[in-house]
Amino acid sequence: MKISIQNLNKVYDNGKHALCDVNLEIESGMFGLLGPNGAGKSTLMRILVTLMKPTSGNVLIDGLDISKNRKEIRDILGYLPQDFRFFTKLKTWEFLDYAARLSGIKNKKERLQKVDMWLEKVGLFDARERNADKLSGGMKRRLGIAQALIGDPKLLVVDEPTTGLDPEERIRFRNILSDISRHDAIIILSTHIVGDISSICQSMTLLDDGFLSFSGSPEELIEKSRGHVWQINTSGTDYDILKNTYPVISTIPTDDGWDVQFVADSISNSKAIQIEPTLEHAYVYFMEYMSNKN
Ligand code: ADP
Repeated sequence: MKISIQNLNKVYDNGKHALCDVNLEIESGMFGLLGPNGAGKSTLMRILVTLMKPTSGNVLIDGLDISKNRKEIRDILGYLPQDFRFFTKLKTWEFLDYAARLSGIKNKKERLQKVDMWLEKVGLFDARERNADKLSGGMKRRLGIAQALIGDPKLLVVDEPTTGLDPEERIRFRNILSDISRHDAIIILSTHIVGDISSICQSMTLLDDGFLSFSGSPEELIEKSRGHVWQINTSGTDYDILKNTYPVISTIPTDDGWDVQFVADSISNSKAIQIEPTLEHAYVYFMEYMSNKN
């Protein structure tokens, strides 16, 4: 399974150039699309799932051309949009059964087995008799992932998977996503939350104001920030100066001030020590100092 994106552009009617010459190859596995709000992630996702046409450029999904083979692509696709909603009064299991029917599973026994299997996998078996629209936000998101996967899609697209979830549900949802990672399928996670990517994606790309500014593994992105992440214990006006000079990643109170972590190309303050970068540090460093836009 492979997606090949060539010279992709999207210009909206109002003149907004939301995707600028995007070139990208995506192979099987869990793939992260990271970028701030407004970067163009949803635009790219909507083009991939054939809900929107690009202004120019080509996309091949498993050899199928999105401009010519929309029906065939939809047959191998699962999609969980950010604003996934239930329009029905169906029970949780009935909703999944409906999704399974839509995905073409005609045999009732096979369908019900699959429904039970997915209810178990996403931790909703005990809630199967509850009305789907009465589930909590996190449970709805889990039901959403089950409906997107019940037809065994070769490509699954998940838009902003953990936005609005509390920390416990966020971890649970990430665990479900990493469990369902399969060798023969591509799963694309589009997110502005770095933690969604760092825990589960083998490869990733950074989108910044319509431009693709990095593609590689999370480890490769982290390497780019090595030597540029610092920590210093500071207080009072020194802290204000630091905050106004460098992007600050975290501030932890101590007995005599704050331990402040920040990124910088180079610094003159000899009291600061270099620390081991995380993906969050790397993301901020890259967007601030290395992205194409700069
Ligand atoms: P993201 O998903 O990364 O937040 P989007 O793809 O939603 O980004 O948006 C990219 C840019 O395109 C933003 O500047 C947004 O305001 C603009 N945009 C999105 N949809 C439309 C539209 N239908 N018409 C005009 N501009 C749009």
